[in-house]
Amino acid sequence: MPIPKVRCPHCRNLSEYSVANLWRPFCSERCKMIDLGAWASDAYSIAGRAAEGNDGPEALRVTEVDDRLFSHYTQH
Ligand SMILES: [Zn+2]
Repeated sequence: MPIPKVRCPHCRNLSEYSVANLWRPFCSERCKMIDLGAWASDAYSIAGRAAEGNDGPEALRVTEVDDRLFSHYTQH
């Protein structure tokens, strides 16, 4: 199965949208921090909180946020 590619919303470089890319859909942590801070600091704080937790309902919300990001940046 081919790995989908997304264009980094910040610097426009192509990067892989896979679990290996921790900063998807961005190419790097730097781009993610800069761009996310601009539009969804609340969504990011949810993800950050969930990442620290164990596996409760919060863990599911990471996926939710991830899906939202993917939709946000691919439906153009
Ligand atoms: Zn980038």
